Amino acid sequence: MSLTTDKAVASLLRDDDRAVLREIFGERVRFDEPLGPYTSWKIGGPADAFAVVEREEELAAAMRLCFKRRLPWFVIGSGSNVLVGDGGMRGIVVRLGGAFAEIDARVDGDDVIVDAGASAGMAAVTAKAATLGAVGIGSLAGIPGTVGGSLRMNAGTDREMGDFVRSVWVQSPGKPDPHAITVQYFYRHTTLARDAVVSRVTLAFERGDPKSVRDEMQARLVRRKSTQPIALPNAGSCFRNPEGDKAARLIEAAGAKGWRVGGAEVSPLHANFINNVGGATARDVATLLARVRRAVHEQFGVELQLEVHLVGVFIDET
Ligand SMILES: Cc1cc2nc3c(=O)[nH]c(=O)nc-3n(C[C@H](O)[C@H](O)[C@H](O)COP(=O)(O)OP(=O)(O)OC[C@H]3O[C@@H](n4cnc5c(N)ncnc54)[C@H](O)[C@@H]3O)c2cc1C
Repeated sequence: MSLTTDKAVASLLRDDDRAVLREIFGERVRFDEPLGPYTSWKIGGPADAFAVVEREEELAAAMRLCFKRRLPWFVIGSGSNVLVGDGGMRGIVVRLGGAFAEIDARVDGDDVIVDAGASAGMAAVTAKAATLGAVGIGSLAGIPGTVGGSLRMNAGTDREMGDFVRSVWVQSPGKPDPHAITVQYFYRHTTLARDAVVSRVTLAFERGDPKSVRDEMQARLVRRKSTQPIALPNAGSCFRNPEGDKAARLIEAAGAKGWRVGGAEVSPLHANFINNVGGATARDVATLLARVRRAVHEQFGVELQLEVHLVGVFIDET
């Protein structure tokens, strides 16, 4: 490894940082923990520290440490929209769990209201909301993320997370206690500050007939199964759709379906998905993403924008 790479992969934590993290999280913090298992691509090098955070006070304590020591940190949800570099991530990676997974869904007059912690899975949220007849919930069904990750990504299909958000609570190193904020939503991104961790969200839906809402959701889930390689390790759509077109259509027309680099393959089923067909590294996926992007640009003059977040240290040497 070069000197630069050596530096980029060296842990930033001092012994006293590790001691503070153990005090906050006990057994729930691990050091030099590989991140692959926490992502849907099953790819990624180690985090200096990886902590499962179960309460708002713990998150606040970890943030105070990051602020005081100027340590980088990152929050991972289900890891279904991130490519973590093979060199891993410096600083602290947190994953929310415990009380952050709670969901309260209820009928309130003509509305269905869902209060959800940020680590609640979208599958559980959509299932509960559908039972109460939440109109539009089908557009969020089948997204394999958490509420927090889906809010940051403004995830969705024909309708998106932001269409249903009533309130958002966050914590950040500069303001570690939970506080409500206003977020603006755009196609697959938001104005949520880079350093804000969503801790809970309230969603509101118009109330309709529960049976027709459930049937519509089921039909969408079935359609998804036949058009997406959902059983393979991938991160869904890699590129955002350009204005007035589909990234998958352009990639297929560029002849890239089935292209491979190492263990990474452009899905033969859905051209905007890249599958890890066995032992893919982040470098394989990043190289394939670059080739696909170049081919589409050369043939159609369209510069595809990444939807997936590339995070951590990417190593360009063997
Ligand atoms: C098979 C498959 C199908 C998919 N289908 C769709 C689809 O139909 N529509 C769609 O939009 N997406 C889809 N996706 C992509 C992905 O599931 C969504 O983007 C999802 O919302 C990401 O949530 P996550 O919890 O996995 O986030 P992660 O991938 O863990 O993180 C994504 C980003 O959100 C940030 N983040 C995570 N949690 C928080 C938090 N609590 N606070 C602040 N920031 C946070 C992370 O730091 C990161 O920057 C699909 C993915 C797969 C694998």
